[in-house]
Amino acid sequence: MKCPFCGNIEDKVIESRTLSEGEAIRRRRECLSCSQRFTSYERLEERPVVVIKNNGNKEFFKKEKILNGMITATEKRPITVAQIQSIVEEVTEELHRKADREIYSKEIGLMVMNKLQKLDQVAYVRFASVYKQFTDVNEFIKEIKSM
Ligand SMILES: [Zn+2]
Repeated sequence: MKCPFCGNIEDKVIESRTLSEGEAIRRRRECLSCSQRFTSYERLEERPVVVIKNNGNKEFFKKEKILNGMITATEKRPITVAQIQSIVEEVTEELHRKADREIYSKEIGLMVMNKLQKLDQVAYVRFASVYKQFTDVNEFIKEIKSM
């Protein structure tokens, strides 16, 4: 990294520290030419995930949306807010790890559904009825009977 004092590009890292829950790494560096010390920060590039809605419109992914959907689906069910939040975090992380930053809203719905299914069947059906948009009632009944 270019030394801010003399412009030399060779340095050694004398200390690395992870900041704010792994969101950044702070490095203390020492220039090999002039021995001045300076600090660099390394952060993940924040690239937004784009969601393609059923009508073809695009919008940026917001975790509040799936959070709201899940809170509605889990009403009066024995599921804690912490459980809901951990699913939201898992899904958000999976989305951010995808190379392709565009995803259909249906796919996000499926990701949530798969996780919800392991947690609570009733919440799963409620969520599915909204997000899967069953093409007809029979399909919906089939889904419930298969549980
Ligand atoms: Zn220097």
